[in-house]
Amino acid sequence: MTPQPNPQAGAAVKAADRAHVFHSWSAQELIDPLAVAGAEGSYFWDYEGKRYLDFSSGLVYTNIGYQHPKVVAAIQEQAARMTTFAPAFAVEARSEAARLIAERTPGDLDKIFFTNGGADAVEHALRMARLHTGRPKVLSAYRSYHGGTQQAVNVTGDPRRWASDSGTAGVVHFWAPFLYRSRFYAETEEQECARALEHLETTIAFEGPGTIAAIVLETIPGTAGIMMPPAGYLAGVREICDKHGIVFVLDEVMAGFGRTGTWFAAGLYDVVPDLMTFAKGVNSGYVPLGGVAISAEIAATFAERPYPGGLTYSGHPLACAAAVATINVMAEEGVVEHAARLGAEVVEPALRELAERHPSVGEVRGTGMFWALELVKDRETREPLVPYNATGQAAAPMSAFAASAKAHGLWPFVNMNRTHVVPPCNITEAELKEGLAALDTALSVADEYTR
Ligand code: PLP
Repeated sequence: MTPQPNPQAGAAVKAADRAHVFHSWSAQELIDPLAVAGAEGSYFWDYEGKRYLDFSSGLVYTNIGYQHPKVVAAIQEQAARMTTFAPAFAVEARSEAARLIAERTPGDLDKIFFTNGGADAVEHALRMARLHTGRPKVLSAYRSYHGGTQQAVNVTGDPRRWASDSGTAGVVHFWAPFLYRSRFYAETEEQECARALEHLETTIAFEGPGTIAAIVLETIPGTAGIMMPPAGYLAGVREICDKHGIVFVLDEVMAGFGRTGTWFAAGLYDVVPDLMTFAKGVNSGYVPLGGVAISAEIAATFAERPYPGGLTYSGHPLACAAAVATINVMAEEGVVEHAARLGAEVVEPALRELAERHPSVGEVRGTGMFWALELVKDRETREPLVPYNATGQAAAPMSAFAASAKAHGLWPFVNMNRTHVVPPCNITEAELKEGLAALDTALSVADEYTR
């Protein structure tokens, strides 16, 4: 579809938005949302007819791009047949989506509890863990993101949780591995792994193992910076959980469904959690859907005792039909393998080359279509290009970087002092190269703020 300029329509959309839409995570008067006229594949465009290559996949969820015709058709067919039906009934789209998901989740995570998105998946995973163990506490990592609802934001390990909620009792945070920012404690990934596991053991000892229901971790922390866990870390956490009877929850809301060049990132580390949350890529975000994949042991807890929780739209037929179509498209079109190959052959070498030329790039991390560039003022001190949660003038280097990318037709994902390269998993090689060239130009702007 070719973008047709229609600035008048754009102005009307914008005016209504400004008058009535209350935007998430934003100071309402300080934002200027782009009015989007359309989207297709890896691109979207505004009402002026300007196209952007989406290196953010929306909020890292359009894993097969926008408007995939097979998924759009599946949603239309489901809408024509049976738009909705309550969760207590067996419905073809729902049971088929659950079957396809369970077929791909690791180990015996074969029962699927559907939610409307990622945060409520985390809420339910924590509730299941607490009911299964009869214990109150949950441990989670600093530098993590688990969602914006009450429990999810409180297990989230970033300063936003204090801004949005005052903190719930029974949530304890620990320092998961991040060698780049742990250098006073560890010099190698192996040492960082040992540091993090020992620290976790100590935290558990002081909190009391018998009080801890769950440890929740993103398999690869996404929003917080795509920190690849060192070899042995997740297996080590699995062992610690087994030793103390703690439920191991892996949050794959962002990392799941092809993003890392494998169906689930847990597969990269050969680790099987007790509960695994998913959302986003499950249906490329076309209709809201998330869920929890549940092990046989935890499912058995609720075999004869009711699970006390549910949602009106759990496993909504439209969302599940979109999931069935998306998973089938990913399998038929080899999207997961494509993401793995282009990640290794195109993205990684290009980003490492950019890091050599641009003094603002402190570190490159990632895999598949899941990459982060850590931008710094000074490579020696590793001082971030902007302070955490920077606003106003302090944020200028990152906003100048983003403005340059956008001027060159690239929509970047920017968070704190990082830009993430997280395009659709089925992006073409030519599109990737186009985006990487614009990124190169934008990094020259970031370089101007280095010492
Ligand atoms: N968990 C992770 C790892 C996420 O990245 C996100 C969202 O970015 C969430 C949970 C929350 O998902 P949602 O925004 O669908 O509630």
